[in-house]
Amino acid sequence: MKEITAYKCKKCGRIHYPKHERCLTCKHREFEPIHPEGNVKLLTFTQIFNLPWGFDERFLYIGVVQFANGVKAMGQIDAPDGADLRLGMTLKAEWEPVRTVFDEPVYGLKLKPLG
Ligand SMILES: [Zn+2]
Repeated sequence: MKEITAYKCKKCGRIHYPKHERCLTCKHREFEPIHPEGNVKLLTFTQIFNLPWGFDERFLYIGVVQFANGVKAMGQIDAPDGADLRLGMTLKAEWEPVRTVFDEPVYGLKLKPLG
């Protein structure tokens, strides 16, 4: 997914997303940009009721997921009822409008349960 760029430390390999000035593990300053691809694994999720301005939904599920190459990211889970969300499940990750501000769509990571 070209919209997400993570940074892999050239010395120890630790992946940073978002970017840090220095590696959190070894303090190295050089990073290789990488893009996460494919489906993601759900590490944790939560339900948010007090939404910022720009959301039409009454509440949202927000999840932290991990891509196959180790990049971790936070995104909005497309699960209106939330009934089938389980830790460790596989989700499809897409870059889509997640809210509207001044009539303009704001893009973000959208996560969809498979099947
Ligand atoms: Zn490092």
